[in-house]
Amino acid sequence: MSTRRKFLQSSVLGSVAVITDKKVLAQSQYKNVTDQPLVVSTWDFGKTANAAAWDVLIKKRRAVDAVEAGVRIPEADPTNQTIGYGGLPDRDGRVTLDACIMDEYYNCGSVMALEHVTHAISVARLVMEKTPHIVLAGDGALQFALANGFKKENLLTAESKKAWEEWQKTSKYEPVMNIENKLYGKDKDPTPGGPDNHDTIGMIAMDAKGNLGGACTTSGMAFKMHGRVGDSPIIGAGLYVDNEVGAATSSGVGEEVIRVVGSHLVVELMRHGLSPENACKEAVQRIIKRNPEKAKNIQVGFVAINKKGQYGAYALQKGFTIAVKSGEEDKVVAAKSIY
Ligand code: ASP
Repeated sequence: MSTRRKFLQSSVLGSVAVITDKKVLAQSQYKNVTDQPLVVSTWDFGKTANAAAWDVLIKKRRAVDAVEAGVRIPEADPTNQTIGYGGLPDRDGRVTLDACIMDEYYNCGSVMALEHVTHAISVARLVMEKTPHIVLAGDGALQFALANGFKKENLLTAESKKAWEEWQKTSKYEPVMNIENKLYGKDKDPTPGGPDNHDTIGMIAMDAKGNLGGACTTSGMAFKMHGRVGDSPIIGAGLYVDNEVGAATSSGVGEEVIRVVGSHLVVELMRHGLSPENACKEAVQRIIKRNPEKAKNIQVGFVAINKKGQYGAYALQKGFTIAVKSGEEDKVVAAKSIY
């Protein structure tokens, strides 16, 4: 290995440079999954989404088809108030969705602040496949969806409207983006899946040919400012797929993920030899390094897979879970965390 290459590797890997994949796996709570295919997604609700993705993977179809099919499940579920139909609205009472998708050829598509369409992920896929662009936002994304056969719907369910009305009583029209639930208290969390008012499904998969794909979809921070866009639809932040190396996705406070271009960072760390778990941990530590005080009071979690079919996750706070499905496993795993 050239001296320059050695230098680059050691400067990127820092203190964990000496950890070999073998040692990492020995320390890891995750199984080394060598059988293809594999699908991994964020949070407990990822389990039912994984089942839908799995049905596609076992038919030997592409990972990108699987992740699209998978995340459509929570998008259509009105009881999931953080994704798609039934998502909690912004502070103006409008449900605005963010989503992106990426395949094994660096093709990607994204929609930001899309209203009135449940399956934001499928609109993102059409942006990828039918336009010369990568991102469509707001009204332009809606017009594109309607022109491509999507129907205009009301995404605000009675439950989410009620939660918004409750929020208005005390919010003073201020967006909230922390895990302390200043509005609700820890015991009265308004959303399923975690101690927070936000949760995204990010899903990454390896298909029977060993190719990768990923999808990420969310209604974003509840009661956010109208027009706010989080990490989830930003390629490199909420999702990144590099078919040579691996794929990563995130959930949590999007602003912090964007600052470190989190999912791309995780993939690059894997390129330089880190296991998925250690790459996720290093990315989380990058967030802490920027603002240690802030990092104590927010949640961010990353999950990643590599080309060997290994997976791993890491979060700032306890409570981040991932759902895994392979030929050998079908389970929800609690990610390790810094705090
Ligand atoms: N990352 C999402 C956002 O910032 C929210 C989440 O995943 O919890 O919009």
